[in-house]
Amino acid sequence: MSGTSNTPSPVNEPILSYAPGTPERVALKAELERQAGQVVEIPAIVGGKPIRSGDTGDVVMPHRHGHKIATVHHTDTATIADAIRAAKEAQREWASWRFEDRAAVFLRAADLLAGRWRQVVNAATMLGQSKTAFQAEIDSACELIDFLRYNVHFAERVLAEQPHSGPGAWNRLDHRPLEGFVYAITPFNFTAIGGNLSSAPALMGNAVIWKPAATATLSNYYVYQIFEEAGLPPGVINFVHGDSAAITSQLLDDRGLAGIHFTGSTAVFQLLWRGVADRLDRYAAYPRLVGETGGKDFIVAHPSADVDSLAVAMVRGAFEYQGQKCSAASRAYVPASLWPAVRDRVGAMLAEIKMGDVADFQNFLGAVIDPRAFEKIRGYLMQAKSDPSAKVLFGGGTDDAEGYFVQPTLLEVSDPSYRTMCEEIFGPVLTVYPYPDAAWTDTLQLVDRTSPYALTGAVFARDRSAIREATDTLRHAAGNYYINDKPTGAVVGQQPFGGGRASGTNDKAGSMLNLLRWVSPRTIKETYDPPRVYDYPFMSEE
Ligand code: NAD
Repeated sequence: MSGTSNTPSPVNEPILSYAPGTPERVALKAELERQAGQVVEIPAIVGGKPIRSGDTGDVVMPHRHGHKIATVHHTDTATIADAIRAAKEAQREWASWRFEDRAAVFLRAADLLAGRWRQVVNAATMLGQSKTAFQAEIDSACELIDFLRYNVHFAERVLAEQPHSGPGAWNRLDHRPLEGFVYAITPFNFTAIGGNLSSAPALMGNAVIWKPAATATLSNYYVYQIFEEAGLPPGVINFVHGDSAAITSQLLDDRGLAGIHFTGSTAVFQLLWRGVADRLDRYAAYPRLVGETGGKDFIVAHPSADVDSLAVAMVRGAFEYQGQKCSAASRAYVPASLWPAVRDRVGAMLAEIKMGDVADFQNFLGAVIDPRAFEKIRGYLMQAKSDPSAKVLFGGGTDDAEGYFVQPTLLEVSDPSYRTMCEEIFGPVLTVYPYPDAAWTDTLQLVDRTSPYALTGAVFARDRSAIREATDTLRHAAGNYYINDKPTGAVVGQQPFGGGRASGTNDKAGSMLNLLRWVSPRTIKETYDPPRVYDYPFMSEE
């Protein structure tokens, strides 16, 4: 049902600093201590009811993998079948709620998160996903609050989209939710993405089955609890865990699968797409497939670039959150004339950077997420160390004795198609290809062609014609493109996020474009005084 009242105008949630002496720092430290002293039991939640199967998995701190912080109950096939039923049943009433009522649930959730839940979710994100205080604050607090508030504003704009009416009739668009349920599959690296992928379709009147990444289950569970406290009716979002492939196969088999809202790796999204294609004739409607996936994000510098800002963008853009942002810079093209100065500036910063337990606020880096990620990154580093075409300039070390630690690593390569220039590593590894200054135009072509992805990218230059040339040549190389800024840190409402090519369907999370995917409009024409005779005036005799 569409709304007629104005929703509050959103503004971006201010980022708290956590500087010494601030109340937020005191509160967060206390919450970290409290959460480190407990093991939370996390059930599946289906139709609003907690389901404890007894078949469990653990959530541990990546930076201290011997320390368990949660036990998660996996979901069996009968419970997934219940989740499908619960979603379909809940949607009947939820879809008939006025938009204002649905919006109020999520606006209230935003306020709860901005207030008394803030440090609960931040601490869980820090401990479970190994984020620093600042990285947790910009993700699980600010970005999720922004998603919730801005989505309401964008949804209102979707509903306001209405056709013209000619004389004698009134034309309307009824922005219906999809028929069936939406399957939200979310990644480990942003708590905010978990909250957004589940809530955005729900805001538009859909019911959702949400499967978070196993390693992010603790923070995501708190987000679920916030939705519940904010008044989300039972069954509108169902929260399930366990064997992703088995859960997915069961959900994809159901005739009522109306959409998939996915963020994660390209390989998994392609599996999902194929799974849907293979079952296409059994669905009630074509499922909407929305996926934001991998990246091989670039920084390309022109000889006119400012060395200091370029070096800082490389360090922040590549290494914050251990390089585990989909937007993280992982390949850089630096002109040979600037390279010695850039290399020294980056090296000086890397020499200062501390890595370790995120509860120690002096650390800039925590651990990578799990043993699988650790081994994958280590494999790339081992190969680079033994390869004559790659030089390890800084870092390169790994240590998983206590946590999954990978030193921030700077590689220099002479071959621009070396594998760490092309493949997504998803760790704190930045590979630099120093190019001959005169080859600027060719280098832009190289940037465009080198990887199948097109998520984020940045150009650094002071020369405006170089900026213009890069912006033209790289038009399809990134869905989020930055000029003299690092390629990470997109803000909801300011830089709608998503990429093309192998990086996803580019439906721009946190924008009106995304919400349009979760409605199936019905056109209604109402004629006030319908004709009473069948023939037309031209048919009359002269
Ligand atoms: P992932 O693909 O391993 O997992 C994502 C989700 O898919 C998880 O919930 C996981 O349990 C599930 N999954 C795994 N295997 C599955 C299967 N066979 N069938 C169904 N579901 C399955 O990704 P991740 O490690 O959680 O996240 C990192 C990846 O996400 C990177 O590739 C990164 O670039 C990407 N990412 C992209 C964006 C973006 O907006 N483009 C944002 C964040 C992360």
